[in-house]
Amino acid sequence: MKYLCKTCKTKCDDIPKHMITVHKFSKSLVESQLKAKATCYDNAFEKLE
Ligand SMILES: [Zn+2]
Repeated sequence: MKYLCKTCKTKCDDIPKHMITVHKFSKSLVESQLKAKATCYDNAFEKLE
Protein backbone atom coordinates (compact mmCIF):
# COMPACT_ATOMS: atom_id res chain seq x y z
CA MET A 1 0.00 0.00 0.00
CA LYS A 2 1.30 3.43 -0.96
CA TYR A 3 0.27 6.68 0.65
CA LEU A 4 0.45 10.29 -0.47
CA CYS A 5 1.17 12.77 2.27
CA LYS A 6 -1.20 15.72 1.89
CA THR A 7 1.17 17.98 3.79
CA CYS A 8 4.30 17.62 1.66
CA LYS A 9 2.81 15.86 -1.40
CA THR A 10 5.31 13.03 -1.16
CA LYS A 11 4.58 9.35 -1.59
CA CYS A 12 5.57 6.86 1.06
CA ASP A 13 4.77 3.29 2.05
CA ASP A 14 5.27 3.65 5.78
CA ILE A 15 3.37 6.46 7.50
CA PRO A 16 5.13 6.34 10.89
CA LYS A 17 8.53 6.32 9.19
CA HIS A 18 7.46 9.26 7.02
CA MET A 19 6.34 11.29 10.03
CA ILE A 20 9.66 10.63 11.74
CA THR A 21 12.07 11.14 8.85
CA VAL A 22 10.31 13.85 6.82
CA HIS A 23 8.34 15.78 9.43
CA LYS A 24 10.80 15.30 12.27
CA PHE A 25 8.27 13.81 14.67
CA SER A 26 9.94 11.87 17.45
CA LYS A 27 9.55 8.10 17.34
CA SER A 28 8.06 8.06 20.83
CA LEU A 29 5.47 10.71 19.89
CA VAL A 30 4.41 8.83 16.76
CA GLU A 31 4.20 5.57 18.66
CA SER A 32 2.11 7.06 21.46
CA GLN A 33 -0.24 8.77 18.99
CA LEU A 34 -0.73 5.53 17.04
CA LYS A 35 -1.28 3.65 20.27
CA ALA A 36 -3.96 6.14 21.32
CA LYS A 37 -5.61 6.08 17.89
CA ALA A 38 -4.36 3.78 15.12
CA THR A 39 -6.06 5.87 12.44
CA CYS A 40 -4.78 9.23 13.68
CA TYR A 41 -2.81 9.94 10.49
CA ASP A 42 -5.44 8.73 8.03
CA ASN A 43 -6.72 12.22 7.30
CA ALA A 44 -3.24 13.47 6.51
CA PHE A 45 -2.54 10.74 3.96
CA GLU A 46 -4.31 9.68 0.81
CA LYS A 47 -4.28 5.99 -0.05
CA LEU A 48 -2.93 5.23 -3.52
CA GLU A 49 -3.99 2.11 -5.36
ZN1 LIG B 1 4.78 14.41 4.49
